Amino acid sequence: MKSLLPLLILCLTGSHCFPAGFETKEEDLQITQNYLEKFYDLKPEAVKLPRKKNSSPVVEKLKEMQKFFGLKVTGKPDDETLKIMKQPRCGVPDVSQFAITEGNPKWEKKHLTYSIENYTPDLRKEDVDSAIRKAFKVWSDVSPLTFTKISEGEADIKISFHYGDHYDNSPFDGPNGILAHAFQPGPHIGGDAHFDEDENWTKDHRNYNLYRVAAHELGHSLGLSHSSDIGALMFPSYAFSDPNDIQLSQDDIDGIQAIYGPIDNPVQPTGPTTPRACDGKLTFDAVTTIRGEKFFFKDRFYLRKNPYDPEAEVNLISVFWPNLPSRIEAAHEVAEKDIVRFFKGNKYWVTQGQDVLPGYPKDIYRTFGFPTTVKKIDAAVSDESTGKTYFFVGNKCWRYNEHRRSMDAGYPKLIRDDFPGIGSKIDAVVSDNEFFYFFSGTRQYKFEPQTKRVVTVLKTNSWFNCGNY
Ligand code: ZN
Ligand code: CA
Ligand code: ZN
Repeated sequence: MKSLLPLLILCLTGSHCFPAGFETKEEDLQITQNYLEKFYDLKPEAVKLPRKKNSSPVVEKLKEMQKFFGLKVTGKPDDETLKIMKQPRCGVPDVSQFAITEGNPKWEKKHLTYSIENYTPDLRKEDVDSAIRKAFKVWSDVSPLTFTKISEGEADIKISFHYGDHYDNSPFDGPNGILAHAFQPGPHIGGDAHFDEDENWTKDHRNYNLYRVAAHELGHSLGLSHSSDIGALMFPSYAFSDPNDIQLSQDDIDGIQAIYGPIDNPVQPTGPTTPRACDGKLTFDAVTTIRGEKFFFKDRFYLRKNPYDPEAEVNLISVFWPNLPSRIEAAHEVAEKDIVRFFKGNKYWVTQGQDVLPGYPKDIYRTFGFPTTVKKIDAAVSDESTGKTYFFVGNKCWRYNEHRRSMDAGYPKLIRDDFPGIGSKIDAVVSDNEFFYFFSGTRQYKFEPQTKRVVTVLKTNSWFNCGNY
């Protein structure tokens, strides 16, 4: 017991307290300072200044970083902030170190050339060529730019792989951390993209997918800077998205078209937008409780109420559960088993906390006894008090007994018979305090199962801090 005492005192007197004690705190401060120096233009000499003063450059830069990533602006290296700082990312600063060029640098021509200066031994040459070609195509598809690979003469954009210090004042850092960086448009090194050869480059879901990272870096080569939109390809952290599903967000498309103009076609390309909690037109794919919190699923994202966020936390599903697909169709928690089931098509996944349990996805027919005419589940919810799970499919519902592990007799029934008043097309459902909340388009029905009636009709985003929206 005696040995715990000094730690406790440090915790009480320090401006913030990390559970593992003083050593962790020093390490975390070091991580914070390194991160801010690299990506937020914190001057190295600023480190020497007292740390506790709220006006110190470290605190100011930390606040800037927290604002960029949509975190609670505390000016302290709290857990959420450190988690972001430890994520693998692009080496290009979020806040530029020097104003290299006045205004926004851009290429003054539409037809650009590129060359691949050397090849990573991690992949076959054809795979590198293909990844880079696809990465350029991401941008040529949505802009008037074209890209031609050349093998002689100096290309506008030169692609190369390097270990550690490669003499451009931005050394790489070994495995993980910084994955790559690229230079804004200009002569010589301008537009070039460098990849850390200490990473393992892949063409699949393993870290790190070259196509995914290259597509981001080439955004810089064309003059884009980092976006704080977590759904954007130009978000600085490496998102663990499905490498076959790389898509520019509307934010990326707006960015490149602001520099180079629209494509030569009456129909302009569009991309997905990141959901906003207080958007009056917000609809959901699925909603479930997870260990006392509600999670709302939409496309590649989940939303949840967060006391630190003015509206709600919006994050990628893949950041929380790297093995789950996007566009989940139904989800429900079986609290007594501490599991959550996620449904998409005729498949389902089971998670426990942040882990997707092994052996999944499985098909819905064998486990639950659905007829093969059921191709997908629209919504699902468990009633904790009875141990029953309701599945909603089209205008019908099934009831599954979690204890006996079989469908109850008499089902399917028409939704309007068991749940009158909630409409015929259900997007999602979640339980809370003996009530079921059904989501249908932009409406939400608070339903009382005992009396089989709708108590209130709400907007879908009633759970968030949307004030009078
Ligand atoms: Zn970047
Ligand atoms: Ca690295
Ligand atoms: Zn470099």
